[in-house]
Amino acid sequence: MVFIEQEDGQIKDVSFELLTKARDLASELKEKVSAFVMGEKVSGLADEIAAHGADLIYIIEDMELKYYRTLPYFHAAKKAIREENPQIVLFGATLIGRDLAPHVASYFYTGLTADCTELQIGEEKMLYQIRPAFGGNIRATIVTPDYAPQMATVREGVMKKDEPVKGRKAEVRPLKVSIPAEVAGLTAILHRERKEKTINLKGAEVIVAGGMGLGSAEGFALVKELAKVLGAEVGATRAAVDAGWAEADRQIGQTGTTVRPKLYFAVGISGAIQHRAGMEESFKIVAVNTDPEAPIFDIADYKIVGDYKTVLPELIAAYKKLQQ
Ligand SMILES: Cc1cc2nc3c(=O)[nH]c(=O)nc-3n(C[C@H](O)[C@H](O)[C@H](O)COP(=O)(O)OP(=O)(O)OC[C@H]3O[C@@H](n4cnc5c(N)ncnc54)[C@H](O)[C@@H]3O)c2cc1C
Repeated sequence: MVFIEQEDGQIKDVSFELLTKARDLASELKEKVSAFVMGEKVSGLADEIAAHGADLIYIIEDMELKYYRTLPYFHAAKKAIREENPQIVLFGATLIGRDLAPHVASYFYTGLTADCTELQIGEEKMLYQIRPAFGGNIRATIVTPDYAPQMATVREGVMKKDEPVKGRKAEVRPLKVSIPAEVAGLTAILHRERKEKTINLKGAEVIVAGGMGLGSAEGFALVKELAKVLGAEVGATRAAVDAGWAEADRQIGQTGTTVRPKLYFAVGISGAIQHRAGMEESFKIVAVNTDPEAPIFDIADYKIVGDYKTVLPELIAAYKKLQQ
């Protein structure tokens, strides 16, 4: 069973990624894929959810579910899960999923593995919930053998999303949930403002990312200049973000965003495992580093051993020339 996260009628990509994964898992288990979606008016989303792989869709509509609030959503989620009694429940590891899933798991008195990067059906048909652990140095496989349902949140962007199959049919079940006044009235949203999103790492085809090797904010400016010439998005390591050279939303890696651009420039980046976790699926990787032994070169397609101060101006000039 997959929690379909929507905001203003727009379904989050991670929900489609989960449906794709759920199809694989369900076919191994010879089970069906169910989903639940909630909001004020969400019945119009059923076709889209079916096209992405759900066989059975629970629709929960209520005024109190218009915007996410923990308790009303929790109230509705537990009803859908109780109704379906699934073996496995999956949530996106989004702000909402990270808040909602633990509430649900503790209510059902079951385990929850947060931030999974892989899910498989293992021995005894158990869900293997796989995620980095101990600072990313090991891949832990976690199971929930004694309690049900088996629950996991999955990081955004790490699992593939299949193309929707137009016209694919699913059974749609509206579910009436009466949210008690004491739950609905506990918190109220008085005003809601949408912050304009200016950084789009996930959708970028080309990313130029910088790390500590750039030495200073002035050095990092060269990364921004190359990105501008290429029409690329700027990314950064956690260390570069901590140094204040780039905004937190630009962090790529285990605790940042996971990206898969066509072209990824890693400039002055050592290639720590936590950074690689967020970018190694990039189609082509170009690394610029003074240290020929830097681990980033193990995964780079193009390896430039050199100082960014000489390499970047040359790259910028060359690309500018190409554009003339
Ligand atoms: C739990 C946990 C989660 C983490 N999550 C993340 C995460 O999401 N993302 C992330 O990025 N990190 C993460 N980290 C941190 C990670 O372990 C590394 O510390 C970090 O990625 C290193 O950043 P860096 O490559 O910029 O710096 P460094 O490792 O210091 O590398 C700098 C590189 O620049 C090269 N260099 C130096 N001078 C030059 C020059 N003039 N020209 C070219 N190259 C030069 C050096 O040879 C070196 O390879 C996490 C760590 C932990 C413990």
